[in-house]
Amino acid sequence: PDATTSSSTELVARRDRVLARVQQHYYARPPRIERGWRQHLIDTSGRVYLDMVNNVAVLGHSHPGVTASAARQFGLLNTNSRFSYAGIVDYAERIVALLPEPLDTVLLVNSGSEAVDLALRIVRTATGRKDTICLAGGYHGWTTATDEISTSLNDNPSSRDTRPPWIHLVPMPNQFRGAHRGPDAADRYAEAVRAIVDGLPDGPAAFVAEPISGNAGGVELPAGYLAQVYETVRAAGGLTISDEVQIGYGRTGDAFWGFELHGVVPDVVTMAKAAGNGHPIGFVVTRRELAERFSSEGAFFSSVGGSPVSSAVGIAVLDAIRDEDLQGNARRVGAHLGARLAELASRHRLIGTVHGRGLYQGIELVRDPETLEPATAEATAICERLRELGVIEHATGDHSNVLKVKPPLCITVESVDFFVDRLDQVLTEGW
Ligand code: PMP
Repeated sequence: PDATTSSSTELVARRDRVLARVQQHYYARPPRIERGWRQHLIDTSGRVYLDMVNNVAVLGHSHPGVTASAARQFGLLNTNSRFSYAGIVDYAERIVALLPEPLDTVLLVNSGSEAVDLALRIVRTATGRKDTICLAGGYHGWTTATDEISTSLNDNPSSRDTRPPWIHLVPMPNQFRGAHRGPDAADRYAEAVRAIVDGLPDGPAAFVAEPISGNAGGVELPAGYLAQVYETVRAAGGLTISDEVQIGYGRTGDAFWGFELHGVVPDVVTMAKAAGNGHPIGFVVTRRELAERFSSEGAFFSSVGGSPVSSAVGIAVLDAIRDEDLQGNARRVGAHLGARLAELASRHRLIGTVHGRGLYQGIELVRDPETLEPATAEATAICERLRELGVIEHATGDHSNVLKVKPPLCITVESVDFFVDRLDQVLTEGW
């Protein structure tokens, strides 16, 4: 049977024969999704699901502006970035215009893993050092270098025991579940970074973190933490990387970039996912001086990073975010979502807390509000039941007990109400 006529069961059997198991591992019996529209996914029977997890399709699925730009550019030219064409320059100028000084120089690649990998090479070349400090429970990619700094247990349960000696983990500053939960949490967690830096005779190459920790469940870093850490790392001659792959592009509602929430300016920014709305785009932005060091001492060529099609898509995405006021939508609809989830949490004991802000939130499920015992099996069962009710939802976090809430930014109040009402129903039915 060809791919369009085989049943879902046959397709999964064919998938399991030909694809590595790690490539696709959501749901025991996944719905067969062949179409998407805005915040909806549509299976081959015509069933419509509300997509609460797709932070890649930031504009919504099948965005007409992106489709038209890609199709137009594919019909004109798509070549590698060795040639001179306006698209790559226009796109890089648009990116730089969104960033504060001195972040003025762009490198274009094809994914978040590549962007963070390249950022690590840039900071290590510039400092002549390798030691890197990162948060336990963070995720930054699958390449060899980004895997070294990725320690989210839901992706790789043994990752924290197997770090190379140049990787230094500091505790995730989680104010709900972590060791420090009081008003001094920022200071206490920042002390852990100071202790690592003090123990490095040559100083660190860099500190790398997301401004809201995605794989940890949308955990917000305590106010003042990043500012203290950046100061400590810089005083020791190190650099700072803000991984904006999940949080950037207006998702928090309050800011376009996550680092802006903390009043800091990193030395290097990495971005991907939303940048292409599903088309493979990643980029690094840094200051000219660091890019120059890397240009003269490092080797770099990306065949299709910043290709004419990728540049056209990247510009179409930025146009849509601006023209459709998607950051404003994230702020308004995110506030409604937050208020509804807070009300839900007041009625259902299983909800321990709601992390995050805007259209990046995480609903942490616990069996006991005192011990915070994670409700992991419950989270899996709730996702399965929500799928039956028409909502795509997945769990994340160290204990896979945090329901991700990171829908396309075009989501409406009505869709958010549908999600919260279904979750209310499931929690009422079972827990
Ligand atoms: N950084 C962060 C924060 C991410 O969430 C991810 C992907 N989940 C990556 C980097 C890697 O991006 P990609 O999957 O595009 O390689």
